Amino acid sequence: MTTTNLTPEQQEIAKKIGEQLAASQRILIGTHEHPDGDALGSSLALWHVLRQQGKQATVYIPDQAADFFGFLPGFMELTTTKPDARQYDAMVLLDYTQLYRTHLEAEFKAHPHAICIDHHYDNPGGGEFTLVVPAAAATAHILYEVFQLIGSTWSPEVATCLLTGIFTDTGSFMHDSTTPELLMIASDLMSKGARLSHIAHETYQKKDLPGLRIWGRALSRILTSKKTGAAVSIITPQDLEECGATLDDLSGVVSMLNTLPDSTFAMVLCEYEPGKIKGSLRSEPHKHVDVSLIAKRLGGGGHKLASGFEVNGHLVQQNGMWRVVPA
Ligand code: 5GP
Ligand code: MN
Repeated sequence: MTTTNLTPEQQEIAKKIGEQLAASQRILIGTHEHPDGDALGSSLALWHVLRQQGKQATVYIPDQAADFFGFLPGFMELTTTKPDARQYDAMVLLDYTQLYRTHLEAEFKAHPHAICIDHHYDNPGGGEFTLVVPAAAATAHILYEVFQLIGSTWSPEVATCLLTGIFTDTGSFMHDSTTPELLMIASDLMSKGARLSHIAHETYQKKDLPGLRIWGRALSRILTSKKTGAAVSIITPQDLEECGATLDDLSGVVSMLNTLPDSTFAMVLCEYEPGKIKGSLRSEPHKHVDVSLIAKRLGGGGHKLASGFEVNGHLVQQNGMWRVVPA
């Protein structure tokens, strides 16, 4: 298939990135904290490509990936031990929006061959090469085009990782970013060995008891606001403990809240560790709400229809009202 998504300038940058990687023997790959399917899929796809070329590559993730991503080829190679970036000839950060989320900010700024690849429009870039493509549905989508352009060797492992990134970041091909061209790429990845039904099962359909229990909590605690049209749910550390669940088990709940016909946007607030709150926001095109503006005001960011943030504080219920109180 031909490249469809990259402008001529972006194709030039992609080729230069390919040249830099070809000239490097040891490559450090990094992505954002609480890594999602695109963060992990993109990172591991690049890892496989580099390994196939006989290079040494490390994928560093700032915190543990959710267990259900264990089906991703190379999952066991992920490390949460912070590497010494100076030992690497090049470093590539993927899908991270803001540098602080990679826990490699200083390393990236100091490295002579630092590369940024992302589809978040508000990634400021930096380093030696920046390839930010907001039109791409996922960072894995950009990598597909980069790999095609630089003539990488394909394998079922690379195809599986990239299709997982595309599948999860498009909300199982349900978001607006699912274009005919993207489905052709997905089809090509399937013909290269990715099994879509397996990916869908592992990332969306499979729920264990803690997962179902915490979904039940979240769905039984939906608060709606007539004034703002928000549909909000709250999960406390106590909920997580009682259900035996983690933050990862809540993935997808916010999209379910977003299906409420009268809501303008949906938000899930989860105090995943005492004093640490993660917010997830979603909206839909016809609702005309840019949730990234809300996330930005709270120190986070993301896309118009899918954003997030983190704040310090405790979620407490007082007189029937939920509040965030300082940690
Ligand atoms: P999720 O709700 O799935 O965790 O995140 C949805 C999107 O919001 C992500 O793809 C990412 O772009 C953005 N996002 C989530 N959490 C944060 C955060 O803490 N900071 C920033 N800058 N963006 C976030
Ligand atoms: Mn992404």
